[in-house]
Amino acid sequence: MDTYDFIIIGAGAAGLLLADVLGKDPYFRDKNILLLDKNPKDQNDRTWCFWEKGDGNFDAILHKRWNHIYFGGQSFDQRSDLSPYSYKMIRGIDFYREYLSRIQHYPNITFLPATVDKVVEQKDAITVHTDRGTYRGQKLFNSILDADAMSSQQKFPVLKQHFLGWIVKTEKPVFDQGTATFMDFSIPQEGNTRFMYVLPFSATEALVEYTLFSAELLPKTEYEQALRAYLEDILEAGNYTIQEKEYGQIPMTSYEFWSKNTDRHLYIGVAGGWAKASTGYTFMRTYKKVKELINYMKADSPLSSFIQKDRYWYYDLLLLDVLYKNNGKGHLLFESLFRKCDTELILKFLDEESTITEDLKVIAACPKTPFLKALFGRLF
Ligand SMILES: Cc1cc2nc3c(=O)[nH]c(=O)nc-3n(C[C@H](O)[C@H](O)[C@H](O)COP(=O)(O)OP(=O)(O)OC[C@H]3O[C@@H](n4cnc5c(N)ncnc54)[C@H](O)[C@@H]3O)c2cc1C
Repeated sequence: MDTYDFIIIGAGAAGLLLADVLGKDPYFRDKNILLLDKNPKDQNDRTWCFWEKGDGNFDAILHKRWNHIYFGGQSFDQRSDLSPYSYKMIRGIDFYREYLSRIQHYPNITFLPATVDKVVEQKDAITVHTDRGTYRGQKLFNSILDADAMSSQQKFPVLKQHFLGWIVKTEKPVFDQGTATFMDFSIPQEGNTRFMYVLPFSATEALVEYTLFSAELLPKTEYEQALRAYLEDILEAGNYTIQEKEYGQIPMTSYEFWSKNTDRHLYIGVAGGWAKASTGYTFMRTYKKVKELINYMKADSPLSSFIQKDRYWYYDLLLLDVLYKNNGKGHLLFESLFRKCDTELILKFLDEESTITEDLKVIAACPKTPFLKALFGRLF
């Protein structure tokens, strides 16, 4: 049986970012690393967006960057200058190509296309069973989401961010290519939190995504109808063609994904609870978590205690309780937030980089009654 120091399951965002940092850090040069994925990662299966200040680590593979965002509510809307941030987008395929080619050049990392069937942890090692063979490692970093464990627990509600997006090409100019539509709630809510997300690449080309934060998925036709209605009635886009489609769902829950971590086996990425529970934004958090993890490993700290709850975990918990119980009123919450707070502060808060005083400003901007009810519900 082939033996490795580290095995990484999943060459997605988390697996590739982790493999890259391990590969380029001389500290881990003597570690033999196996990276496994069931998928060759040669398709553009998603786009990632995130905000950051100034230039960043992913600029060489950016597809587009916006300096303004638009927020649309039912009784309030605004276009904000994002400075000092910009909103950036990477296409999945550009990321996979760049990171897989880097990984090929690290002599201590092997990428093997294989489907993992089972993981067995023993006292002195961990064994990964795949359709291409069985591998033994000292530590395992695993990006396979245990969806059953998440859905079968009762302690934390599980919402999903789910969406269908179309990259459309219109005949006439329709889009403001300098402005990304972060959330447009000016559409029927139908008892849920529903909004449109628009990323324009030019005046005639954009990714238009119908997005919900809700417990249940919709039939495919409902996403499609909503996209058509938005393009035709709200944007008055005229004739358009659909160039590409993107469907996805991201768990939104305060479930403690990390409760199954051990000193040998660490869940990473969405599977490790690295997605921001209240928004689904994961990419930049994963990048930051990987950096933290590397420092943690260098300090020889136990993997089982890598994730600790902080105050943001509690904020997200309350927000998700509120959204779960009042799903049709989510738009009021976001509207109140954008009306009362600077966009810069909201982004800083969502990045979990705000001070306590700033947190209080954000909290004060939220509707009081549902949050107090959620707080009492958790306390008593
Ligand atoms: C369509 C879509 C768009 C998104 N857009 C954004 C965004 O704009 N901004 C943002 O911050 N977040 C976004 N997210 C959320 C999050 O960033 C992504 O889901 C991200 O890819 C999560 O990284 P990950 O490594 O946890 O999972 P993934 O990237 O999904 O990687 C998991 C990997 O594990 C592999 N795998 C699974 N099972 C097995 C198995 N049994 N054996 C071997 N390999 C296996 C898969 O093939 C996959 O490559 C988006 C998610 C989706 C689905």
